[in-house]
Amino acid sequence: MAKKYDFDLIAIGAGSGGLSVAERAAAYGAKCAVVESGKMGGTCVNVGCVPKKVMWFGANLAHALNDARDYGFDVENKGFDWQHLVTKRESYIAGINNWYHNYLADSNIAEIQGHASFVDAHTIEVNGKKYTANHIAVSPGTRPCVPDIPGAEHGITSDGFFELQELPKQVAIIGSGYIAVELAGVLNALGTDVCMYLRKEHILRSFDAMLRETLLEEMLDSGIDIMPSTQIEEVIKEDNASLTLIDSRGRRNEGFDQVIWAIGRDPNIEGLKLEAAGVETDAQGYIPTDLFQKTNVDNIFALGDVTGRAPLTPVAIAAGRRLADRLYNHQKDRHLDYKLISTVVFSHPPIGTVGLTEKEAREQHGDAVKIYQTRFTAMYNSMTEHQVPTAMKLICVGAQEKVVGCHIIGPGCDEMLQGFAVAMRMGATKKDFDDTVAIHPTSSEELVTMR
Ligand code: FAD
Ligand code: NDP
Repeated sequence: MAKKYDFDLIAIGAGSGGLSVAERAAAYGAKCAVVESGKMGGTCVNVGCVPKKVMWFGANLAHALNDARDYGFDVENKGFDWQHLVTKRESYIAGINNWYHNYLADSNIAEIQGHASFVDAHTIEVNGKKYTANHIAVSPGTRPCVPDIPGAEHGITSDGFFELQELPKQVAIIGSGYIAVELAGVLNALGTDVCMYLRKEHILRSFDAMLRETLLEEMLDSGIDIMPSTQIEEVIKEDNASLTLIDSRGRRNEGFDQVIWAIGRDPNIEGLKLEAAGVETDAQGYIPTDLFQKTNVDNIFALGDVTGRAPLTPVAIAAGRRLADRLYNHQKDRHLDYKLISTVVFSHPPIGTVGLTEKEAREQHGDAVKIYQTRFTAMYNSMTEHQVPTAMKLICVGAQEKVVGCHIIGPGCDEMLQGFAVAMRMGATKKDFDDTVAIHPTSSEELVTMR
C-alpha cells in the first residue's frame, strides 16, 4: 500500500533547529526532508556564532599582541589585514556548508532548496512543488530588525557586518544586547573607533548588574564611547558619504563610515503562510509551543528562535533532538527544560552566566538569598599594562545554600562556565562547590573558594 505522506518529517529551515530534528529523526529510521531557502547551517553557521567567533578570536589576538611586549617579546603590530581574515573565515564557512550537503545525503535526508510555504497542515509548497509529511517542524529563525526612522537604510545589521570588505574607521553601534557588545569589542580591538548608543541606561539590561557594570567599565577603559539614554531618530548620508546620526536630544553625531543596527531580531514568518495550516502566532509573530514544541496544530512543531524562547543555537539543537526522540524513539515525555540555560557573551572580556540574577533571586526568595562574590585581576594581567577585571558571583538560596545563579566575567570565563552549569543542574550547593578541590593557579578556582 502506498504511504499516506511523502515524508515522516519535513523540517522548514536548515539551521540549528531544523537540521538537528531531521538528523536525529533520520537516525531513528524516519524518512526526512529539510527545506532551506538560503545557506546550509542557518544563522549560526553563516551570519552568527561561527563568523562572530572567528572575529572574536582575531580580536583576542590583537589584545595578545599588545600584551606581548609586557611578557618580553620584541614584537611590533605592523597592521591588520581585514580582507585576509574575512576570506579565510568565509572559506571555512563554505566548508561547513558543503559538509552539511554531504552529511544530509549520507544520512538519507532529502534536501529541498527554496522557500517553503504551507498549503495545509500536512502539505508545504516549494518552488511550485508540493510535499507532504506526517510531522512538520518549523524552524525558520529570525532576522535583524531595522528601525522605522528616516535614513535607517544607510545603516547595516550584523548580516552587513559580515559582508564588510574593509575595516571601518568609525562605527556607531545602536543597541545594547549581545550583538551590540560583541561587535563593539571586536571592532574596537581591531582598531575601529566605536561609539555605542543605548536607548536606555544599561548594556545587557537583563543580565546580573555585576556583569553589566564590570563590562561597561572595561569597554570604557578600552576606548569605546558609550552614550546611554540616547535614541537615534534619523540617519543622514552626507555628500562625502559619511553618516550623521540625529539623536533624541537633537545632537548631530557625525563622521561615521558605518552605522550598525543591533536592536534585536524579528521572526522569519513572511511567506510561510502559517494561516493555511492554522498555526497561530503571538503579536510579534513568534510561534508559541507547549512543553513538547507542539504548536496549536497537533502535527506541527516549532523549534529555535521562532519560538521566541532563549534564542541560542544549543537551545534550538536540544529542542530538535528531544522532539525527534519523542516522535520516533518512544521517549514519550522527552522535552527540553528551558530552565538553567547557560550562555556566554563573547564580549571583551567574555561573560558567562547561568540561573537567576541577584535581582531575580531576591524577588523570588527574599531574605533566603545569600550572595558570594569576588573581584580580582587574573594572574595573566599581573604582567600586563592593560588590566582586565575579573568578577564572579554565586547566588545561593536557603539553609542548604543551593546555587541558583552563577555569573562570571573575565578572561577565560567563556570556557569556564559549562562545567559549573552541569553542577547546578544536578542541584549543587555552596558546600559542594567548597568541597571541590581547586585547580591552581587558575581564575576558576575562585568559584570553589569564595567566602
Ligand atoms: P536559524 O539558524 O536562523 O535557521 C533558520 C533557517 O531557515 C535559515 O537558514 C533560513 O534561511 C531558513 N528559512 C527561513 N524561512 C524559510 C522558509 N520559509 N523556507 C525555507 N527556509 C527558510 N547563539 C549561540 O548559542 N552562540 C553564539 O555565539 C551566537 N552568536 C550569534 C551571533 C549573531 C550575530 C547572531 C545573529 C546570532 C547568534 N546566535 C548565537 C544565535 C543563533 O545563531 C540562533 O539562536 C540559531 O541560529 C537559531 O537557530 P534556528 O534553527 O532557530 O534558526
Ligand atoms: P538582544 O535581544 O540581545 O538585544 C537587543 C537590545 O537592543 C534590546 O534588548 C534593547 O535593549 C535594545 N533595543 C531594542 N530596540 C531598540 C531601539 N529601537 N533602539 C535602541 N536599542 C534598542 O538582541 P541582539 O540582536 O543583540 O541578539 C539577538 C539574540 O541572538 C540574543 O538575544 C541572543 O539570544 C542571540 N545571540 C547570542 C549570542 C551569544 O550566545 N553569544 C551572540 C549574539 C546573539 P534595551 O531595552 O535595554 O534598550
